[in-house]
Amino acid sequence: MAERTDRLARASTPDPGADQGPPRCGFVALLGAPNVGKSTFVNALVGSKVSIVSRKVQTTRMLVRGIAVEANAQLILIDTPGLFAPKRRLDRAMVSAAWAGAHDADLVALIVDAKRGVDDETAVILNRLPELRAPKVVILNKIDLLEKPPLLALAADLNASIPFAATFMVSALTGDGVGDVRAWLAARVPEGPWHYPADQLSDAPLRQLAAEITREKLYDRLHQELPYASTVETDRWTELKDGSVRIEQTIFVERESQRKIVVGKRGQALKAVGAEARREIAELIEAPVHLFLFVKVREDWANDPERYREMGLEFPQD
Ligand code: GDP
Ligand code: MG
Repeated sequence: MAERTDRLARASTPDPGADQGPPRCGFVALLGAPNVGKSTFVNALVGSKVSIVSRKVQTTRMLVRGIAVEANAQLILIDTPGLFAPKRRLDRAMVSAAWAGAHDADLVALIVDAKRGVDDETAVILNRLPELRAPKVVILNKIDLLEKPPLLALAADLNASIPFAATFMVSALTGDGVGDVRAWLAARVPEGPWHYPADQLSDAPLRQLAAEITREKLYDRLHQELPYASTVETDRWTELKDGSVRIEQTIFVERESQRKIVVGKRGQALKAVGAEARREIAELIEAPVHLFLFVKVREDWANDPERYREMGLEFPQD
């Protein structure tokens, strides 16, 4: 684990030998419908598996998902989970926070699944994009899945509705084109000192990262049935003699019915989530992991203003 920490610290330290000009630093909001490849893109941009940073570096209105460094510039990548169709109070709070984060960003990047094109959810975002004053770019992702002509047509379509400052075509999966985006963004974030120390990434508490990973797997599988903010907490983290790590986490939901969904028939859903999370956490910490998941009902916390404050969200009054 020590080695891992070193590598992360090095990766985020500017090369002192190069003549890079004054430091630059800024917030980049990533917008996009579910499954367009935002997480994959953040991983590719950050260039390390750690795309999730600690709550410590979260500002109230923004969900920091990663910090990418290019020469003299630090790019703070802001995630915007689910920008559409909020029904529940908690979901509405998340959506407001997402748009608030986008309003505060220096640059806005809309990610579109090039194969899927402009679906309903992307259309909702496109409609609201003009509200944001920051320069906007559009990133067509998954170009490994299709030929050039439809790509160019989609790029032209998108640019007809919004004047994007740049259009990129990338494959977050293969990394194709990602370097161009990073260089473009790095040249355009404002001049100024880095917001986070160069070794910030190495500081990310692994317990929280591990909880985030489980939460993400939970949503990937059950997002239709769960509200956005069922939370996951890491209760125990024990390093065993054989080098493996035993991790215990609790998934908090609001109602018994949700607990049943998370657990699934004969525990199948929970088992699948646990297997995926375990694999990714093991990769992150580079050690075998034994993951134990518990599900608890924390009644009506979605209507408790205190929980919203803890998550850095405004409590909607209606
Ligand atoms: P998010 O919901 O926007 O964060 O999307 P994810 O990053 O989780 O990606 C959704 C799915 O698309 C995953 O199965 C990814 O592996 C896949 N994906 C992401 N980027 C690419 C890409 O460039 N090419 C291909 N073929 N698949 C991709
Ligand atoms: Mg994602």
